Amino acid sequence: MTIVDTTTLTQIPHVIGGKHVEPGERRGAVYNPSLGTQTGEVGLASAELVAEAARTAAAAQREWRSVGLVKRTQLMFRLREIITTRGEELARIITAQHGKTVADALGEVTRGLENVEFCTGLMHHLKGEYSEQIATGLDVHQVRQPLGVVACITPFNFPAMLPLWMVPTAIAAGNAVILKPSERDPSAAVWLADAFREAGLPDGVLNVVHGDKQTVDAILAEPIIKAVSFVGSTPIAKYIYTEAAAHGKRVQALGGAKNHMVVMPDADLDAAADAAVSAGFGSAGERCMAISAVVAVGDVGDALVAKIAERMGGLRIGDGFDPDAEIGPLITAAARDRVRGFVDGVAASGATLVVDGREQQFDSDGFFLGASLVDGAKPGMPVYDEEVFGPVLSVTRVASYDEAVQLINDNPYGNGTAVFTRDGKTARQFEYDIEVGMVGINVPIPVPVGSFSFGGWKNSLFGDTHMYGSEAFNFYTRRKVVTSRWPEPSESQISLGFPTH
Ligand code: NAD
Repeated sequence: MTIVDTTTLTQIPHVIGGKHVEPGERRGAVYNPSLGTQTGEVGLASAELVAEAARTAAAAQREWRSVGLVKRTQLMFRLREIITTRGEELARIITAQHGKTVADALGEVTRGLENVEFCTGLMHHLKGEYSEQIATGLDVHQVRQPLGVVACITPFNFPAMLPLWMVPTAIAAGNAVILKPSERDPSAAVWLADAFREAGLPDGVLNVVHGDKQTVDAILAEPIIKAVSFVGSTPIAKYIYTEAAAHGKRVQALGGAKNHMVVMPDADLDAAADAAVSAGFGSAGERCMAISAVVAVGDVGDALVAKIAERMGGLRIGDGFDPDAEIGPLITAAARDRVRGFVDGVAASGATLVVDGREQQFDSDGFFLGASLVDGAKPGMPVYDEEVFGPVLSVTRVASYDEAVQLINDNPYGNGTAVFTRDGKTARQFEYDIEVGMVGINVPIPVPVGSFSFGGWKNSLFGDTHMYGSEAFNFYTRRKVVTSRWPEPSESQISLGFPTH
């Protein structure tokens, strides 16, 4: 049994009405995954605390809604400045609780910042529409109004980027927010709430409530909350989608992934191997857009597997704060053991373990696991069928382009995919054929820039609105259409027929 000295643990607060609120009775443990030691405690909010946060948010939203768009824009610029100048501070908080390297954490801060930058254009994104003289003397216009209080529920793997993909847009559109970050790495959300406050956001417009399923269930049942943005694993995304809708809420729920990278016979195999290693093992494979399945078409298999294996020999796995480390640990001991379990099962499933990450030793109690490469993976094998979410890359060999497309289209997930080829016609056909929401052509992790929106298909997204970009302004507003006439009093008459123009 590990004895934890609770007096030295950081107490991670909720943020309600601009104030840091002490964790209550129910608490969760927060670790430094590179050391394998508990460093903090986070409150797991009760239904009462969720209700209090919702009431606080509702009161703040009534005021926030009336703040002019020019002032909201200025706030977004100030927020951008704070995150730009102090991004490393945020990155180090991420590294301390998530384990990813500081460089990788800075990368996620930058990709989150893109949405703040997009939101500085909120005056444009919130513009309405106007049609003059739809009929004689009759005008019609449409405005976008906020929903009220919305909840944002985020996963552990991007503790800053995912809140930044949701919260700025919701706030720019005039809503108040309850952010429920992952309880595994909750401090980035607190830092962001403080940054919003420093940028001038009135108290109560952004609240951070930490917690687990019990907390999330209270959010889903809370009538003050009108919409839920969720990102996490597929079973939970499906649950959130169903439950939130049953409670009459607008919901977008992004789920897990199994991202395939097709390597055509004409591809530059060195570039493809570089891309497979980068996209497969970056952030220890704990990215929803990580490549986990390489699909080798035709006769490229042997050469491609050899090139990937050769590159894996040089990967440097270590403490996220070590500037020489390229990959950090997994988030928890349980996550590491789960991923190792997939590697354990490879031989029995009939595939070949080309590089066995279990052999790598680490002189630390951190949740480290070496990178593994599996050849001959096929549907029906757990390592192929499941979202492994760890440093395990599998290669599936197929005879033709059509077989590759069929394999991907048969997969229940549809988040991201990529094709590596030098042939424009093949690339164009792949774009046309593939049933996946985000496609890379010689780009292994095709996360759209902030002016587009992010979202997968099939079991990778429940709901129809993607995240950030212009679709997010649709999600966080409701449209109201106003038809107006200003007749002379003498023109008025009774008309019981159905109004036509
Ligand atoms: P998770 O589903 O376990 O948790 C996500 C959120 O849901 C957390 O805030 C958590 O507290 C909450 N939660 C957990 N269990 C719950 C339950 N039973 N009921 C209600 N709420 C619950 O996901 P995770 O492990 O934190 O993150 C990894 C997963 O997220 C992977 O599957 C990954 O692919 C996915 N992800 C998807 C995207 C995307 O854009 N599609 C992006 C990042 C991560």
